[in-house]
Amino acid sequence: MRDIPTASIADLTSGQSFALTGGAVIQADGSQAVSDIIVGVDGRFVAVGPGLDTRSCGACVDITGMLVSPGFLDAHQHLDKTGVLRFTPNPSGTLQGAREAFAKYARTAGPDDIRERAMRTIKRCLSRGTTAIRSHVNVDKDAGFYGIETLAGVRHAVKDDITLQLVAFMTPHPGQDFDWLAENIDSAVALADAVGGTPAVSEDPPRYLDMLFTAAVKVGKPVDLHLDEHLKADVHLLDAALDRVERFGMQGRTVFSHVSVLSALPRTEFHRIAERLLALDVGVVTLPAANLYLQGRDAEMLPPRGLTRVAELYRAGINIATASDNIQDPFVPTGSGDMLEIARWTLLAGHLRGDELAAAHRMITTAPARLMGLGKDYGLVAGARADFIVTDCIDTDTLVAGGPDRTFVFSKGRLVSQSATDTFGLKEVA
Ligand SMILES: [Zn+2]
Repeated sequence: MRDIPTASIADLTSGQSFALTGGAVIQADGSQAVSDIIVGVDGRFVAVGPGLDTRSCGACVDITGMLVSPGFLDAHQHLDKTGVLRFTPNPSGTLQGAREAFAKYARTAGPDDIRERAMRTIKRCLSRGTTAIRSHVNVDKDAGFYGIETLAGVRHAVKDDITLQLVAFMTPHPGQDFDWLAENIDSAVALADAVGGTPAVSEDPPRYLDMLFTAAVKVGKPVDLHLDEHLKADVHLLDAALDRVERFGMQGRTVFSHVSVLSALPRTEFHRIAERLLALDVGVVTLPAANLYLQGRDAEMLPPRGLTRVAELYRAGINIATASDNIQDPFVPTGSGDMLEIARWTLLAGHLRGDELAAAHRMITTAPARLMGLGKDYGLVAGARADFIVTDCIDTDTLVAGGPDRTFVFSKGRLVSQSATDTFGLKEVA
């Protein structure tokens, strides 16, 4: 590896056009190519490719030997819940225990509290290279509209730093009045970018699913469900949800998060469901931290991993992303906002192989970009928002496997974070 012109990158000031030349750029298909990058004053890529004419740029930095990745995407978080761990004891460590603990807390959580916690997590995520987050936000009798209204304000306030999408998470609780959700869903969805819910907890899943899809179709917004976050093979709602994707014409605009139950189904049944997912262009988000922590606590022995069939879904060609889910709350007590950490959990717990490290990278970049509908705004291509990461890794595999020692994070063409680990002169040999 060559010496790295860190001072030059660090000296790039915002509001100027600049070029980064000679770096290895990760392509949409996961391969790498030495390319130059030109970023315009509007914070978008002017051009990405080999041998560009960079003479008109305000600054030019040679980054030969460095690796450029598009910004990491966290397609599933809960920013209304982040950071409440110490206020929300969950002695059982189960999903239902976590739901009850947060519901109690949500009754007292005001806008200032929500904003402060969310901003803290957003900043940490950004510093680790995450340039877009989709956050589910509870809307129910306990949380009311505090979460969604506050985070709609945060979404606007941070728009130049990070792309924030909100999912109106119409949260059912056992014994809760269904009518409250039905009366309030349209107002909540108006503040959100997508419609969400957790059908398995509803007392009337078919009616609940109809309510969610109806609200989404009415305003032309996508659906993102917490679907079958359990391992009870006999009560899954996969077909019920897929039927509605078909009936409401929501192909390509629906995401199923978790789908842990796929791991509990016989393989033949899994193949049947996978074919439907593929045919209806439904995306999947796996949340390894939450599933490893919450699922299988009642197992007498050999507790399950709790994840969906990650490797098989990926190899079947289904668009599968991985994400943080909760960060430091009763659902997941840990989490740093580092998507490379999540990619590693996914590879290990999801039974991907050593030759599939690049697949884990895809699960935090191009796969979630498609699920989030970022379209031409995303990627290392001309016209896209210049959200990217420059690291000292030699290739995609080493980026995922061990992570960088030196990182520069750019959001909308602006250097927003840089970090370095002192390796005392040790260098990896290609
Ligand atoms: Zn979740």
